[in-house]
Amino acid sequence: MIIMRLAHRIGSLGTESAFLVSQAARDWAARGNRVFPFHLGDINLPTPANIVAAQQQAIAQGRTGYTAPAGIPELRAALADDVGSRRGLRYGPENVAVQPGGKPVITKFIQALINPGDEVLYPVPGFPIYESQIDYFGAVGVPYRFVESASGFVIDLDDLTARITPRTRALIFNNQQNPLAAESSPSELARLAELALRHDLWVLSDEAYFETRYSGDSHSLVSLPGMQERSIILYTFSKKYAMTGWRLGAAIAPVKIAEIVAQLNVNDESCTSQFTQWAGVEALRGDPSGALVIRQELRRRRDALYDAVVAMPTFRAARPEAAFYLYVNVSDAMRNRGFSDVDAFASAALKATGVAFCTRKHFGRVLPGEPDHYARFAYSGIGVDDIREGMSRLAAWISD
Ligand code: PLP
Repeated sequence: MIIMRLAHRIGSLGTESAFLVSQAARDWAARGNRVFPFHLGDINLPTPANIVAAQQQAIAQGRTGYTAPAGIPELRAALADDVGSRRGLRYGPENVAVQPGGKPVITKFIQALINPGDEVLYPVPGFPIYESQIDYFGAVGVPYRFVESASGFVIDLDDLTARITPRTRALIFNNQQNPLAAESSPSELARLAELALRHDLWVLSDEAYFETRYSGDSHSLVSLPGMQERSIILYTFSKKYAMTGWRLGAAIAPVKIAEIVAQLNVNDESCTSQFTQWAGVEALRGDPSGALVIRQELRRRRDALYDAVVAMPTFRAARPEAAFYLYVNVSDAMRNRGFSDVDAFASAALKATGVAFCTRKHFGRVLPGEPDHYARFAYSGIGVDDIREGMSRLAAWISD
């Protein structure tokens, strides 16, 4: 028998445990049960036809070879224009390093800028890959928390400030947040910028959902004075254009950092698939109506889900205006059904009703003194009728 001798660092590598919920949901469906998929942040809507056609045309034209590691000039220019104009910032192609998805920006930010032992502030609950990659590269993750308010979640800024030390090197920030769908007020953004400047922090601004919103405007931390030169924006085509499986995104960064990220590309994937990059040019420069159709459908789902949740006396949530998640306080519902563990509650809900969802435990380590229990309901992969049916089954089970 071969004895597996793995690198020590593999012991620090985390994962997206939400995929375990998918497995449980698949197993339950394979046994002939109906499943209502609120668990995964994937999108069950088609990529707009003009983007698909552009990719097929690029293949037909033989655009199938390697590209420059930072991407084709046309896509870098289109991204610089689009990202810059939506944030009131000036970027050029030299600020853009195209990526196979938004997620690689997280690992490349840490690889480029963080040394072992450096402290990195990151949101909890938050996208679990931040914590995984901080740990993997031997840095020290310093989670910052949120407080539930009547209108959603706000960052506990006093707590965050108290966690900054001379070893703090970076802040990871995700406005239009996964899983909370939280957005920072102008004053919260101003305080974060002030902290980043005062403590000379690098900032990873994860803007995966910047354009997935149902009213109002998104604001970027990077637009505040002094922030552009210390910030890397995570951009992705995944959510806005329903392109999760295409794997297309970008790091938008100061020139020197963009160059380092491109050097990491050379060492890793070489480049992002060329014909996919041409599809990205069409997404940014071509007919934008497909993205609007996606957003309108997500809005209908948001309304259906929110209406169902607020009608349940034991569920509590604020109406999100961005992203495609509803983060629900389920403490009372758990009490009603006699659960003290939120994952046990989720498993029982799946078996009793077919409703699959993630819980607080899938979004970073649980901190001491968290008073309540939460579940995340994603509405990107489930239509309005199933949202209503699933939530009505869940409501009946909880009030049973
Ligand atoms: N950042 C956040 C907050 C996300 O929720 C996701 C995907 O779920 C990503 C980044 C990465 O998305 P992708 O790699 O598909 O661009």
